[in-house]
Amino acid sequence: MSHYDVLVEGAGPAGATAAYYLAMQGKKVALVDRAKFPREKACGGGLCVHIEEFDHIISNWDDFLESKCLRGIVYGPDFMPVDYVSEKPFFYNIRRLKFDNTLVEYAVEKGATLIEGVAVKDFEVHPDKVVTKLRNGEEITSDVIIGAGGSFDLVSRRIREIENMPMKWRDEDIATALYFEIDVGREYMDSVYGEERISMAHIKYQNLDGYGWSFSKDTVLNVGIGCPRSIIKKIKKDNPKWDERQYLLDYVETLKEQGWFPKEIQVDRKMIAGSNIPVGMGMKCTVGDRMLVIGDAGGFVSPLSGEGLYYALDSGRLAAESLDTLFKERNFDKQSMMLYHNAWSDKWGDDLEWLKVGWHLLMVMPNSLIKYAALDEETKEFFTHMFVGSMPASKIKNKVLALIAKGALKHDFLSHITGQHEKVPPVTN
Ligand SMILES: Cc1cc2nc3c(=O)[nH]c(=O)nc-3n(C[C@H](O)[C@H](O)[C@H](O)COP(=O)(O)OP(=O)(O)OC[C@H]3O[C@@H](n4cnc5c(N)ncnc54)[C@H](O)[C@@H]3O)c2cc1C
Repeated sequence: MSHYDVLVEGAGPAGATAAYYLAMQGKKVALVDRAKFPREKACGGGLCVHIEEFDHIISNWDDFLESKCLRGIVYGPDFMPVDYVSEKPFFYNIRRLKFDNTLVEYAVEKGATLIEGVAVKDFEVHPDKVVTKLRNGEEITSDVIIGAGGSFDLVSRRIREIENMPMKWRDEDIATALYFEIDVGREYMDSVYGEERISMAHIKYQNLDGYGWSFSKDTVLNVGIGCPRSIIKKIKKDNPKWDERQYLLDYVETLKEQGWFPKEIQVDRKMIAGSNIPVGMGMKCTVGDRMLVIGDAGGFVSPLSGEGLYYALDSGRLAAESLDTLFKERNFDKQSMMLYHNAWSDKWGDDLEWLKVGWHLLMVMPNSLIKYAALDEETKEFFTHMFVGSMPASKIKNKVLALIAKGALKHDFLSHITGQHEKVPPVTN
C-alpha cells in the first residue's frame, strides 16, 4: 500500500492548485481524478482579476489565456444596459479543457503523482492515517485527505455527517447552469465583440432569477444561463412543459435579435451541457480530523455571479499553506485543521456574504439597480467589478448602506414588498 502525505480527491482547479503548492513544499501528493485529462467541464470560463494573485498563472498566460476583457455590458430585464469600458483588463477568459489540464500539468511538474481515470470510492479516518479506497480496488494511505471533488464531494458529505449539517445544499443555494461553446471565427469576434472582447450578461432574462451570459474567447463564444434550482423546480411544477434547455435557446434568439450572435448558426440542444453551482456562501464547517474541503466542495462560489474559479484556486493555496504549518507539528485533529477554515473565512468569507446581499438586491430590484449603476463612470465601475467578483465586502457593504440611506431604492423595495413588482411574462416553449 503506497503512503502519501496528502491525497487530493479531484484534480479540477481547486485540487490541482492544492497539489501544486503542496508539491512545491516537498510533500508527497497523490492527485486522484475519476476523469482522464484533458477533460471538459461545464463553465463560462471567466476569471476575475484576483487571479492575478497567482504568479504561476500570470507568468504563463500564453499556456491558456483566450482573451482579456476590457468592456462589459450588463443588461437589466428591460434591456437597459450598464456599459463599462476599462483601460485595464478586468476579466480574463479561458477554456476549461485547456486550463484545467494545464493546472494538472503544473502540479505534476512540481512532483505530484496524478492517478487519473479512477474515482475515489470511500475513505476511513484512523487515529494515525487516512485509508482511501479507489474504484479499481486499490488502497492508498495518507496523513490527510483533501476533498476537491466539486459540488457533490465525498469529503464534504462526511464533514456534513459529522457536524450534523444538512446533507446537501438547499435548492435556493444551488444554481443550475447550462452553457455551450461555439467557434464563430476571429473575423466575427473582432467585428462584433471587438478587440476589447466584450463580456455580456442579461440579468433576470425573461424575469427569472439568475442571468444569461455571452463570454468572448479568442474565436469562440461561450453562452449560458444560470438560475437557482428552487426557481426551476417552481416553474416546472407550474408548467411541466417548461425546460431549461429551451430557456437557453430562447436566450440565443434574443442575442441574435440584439446582434450578439450569428443569425445563421442554429444551436442544437445536443450542444448544451450543464451542471450545479453551490452558491450558499461556503459550508459552516470545512474541516474534520485529517480532512478538509476546497473549491466547489466547500461551496466557495460568488453567490452573485456563480464564479468559483478564483475561490477554487485560492482555497487550494490556503489549504496547502495551512497544511504546511500543521505538518511541522504533525497535528491534524479538527481543532488544528481549523487553521484552514479560519484562513479562507478571514480572507473572503465576508465577501461571499455581501455578494449574497448583492444577489438579493439585484433580483428584487434589477431595473433600478441597473439604472442607478448606469449613472456615472464610478458607479458603473463599482457595479461591474462587484458583478465579476473583484469588489471587496467592505466596499459592497458601504455602497449598499449608502443606497439605502439615500432612499435611492425605496420605490422598488416598497413595490417588491407590496407585491406590485414586475410580472413574470408567459414562458415560451
Ligand atoms: C455552466 C457553468 C458556468 C460556470 N461559469 C463560471 C465562470 O465563468 N467563472 C467561474 O469562475 N466559475 C464558473 N463556474 C463555476 C466553476 O466551474 C466552479 O466553481 C469550478 O469548476 C470549481 O472547481 P473545483 O476544482 O472545485 O471543482 P471541479 O472543477 O468540479 O472539479 C472537480 C473534479 O473532481 C473530480 N471528481 C469528482 N468526484 C470524484 C471522485 N469521487 N473521485 C475522483 N475524482 C472526483 C471530477 O472529475 C472533477 O475533475 C461555472 C459553473 C457552471 C456549471
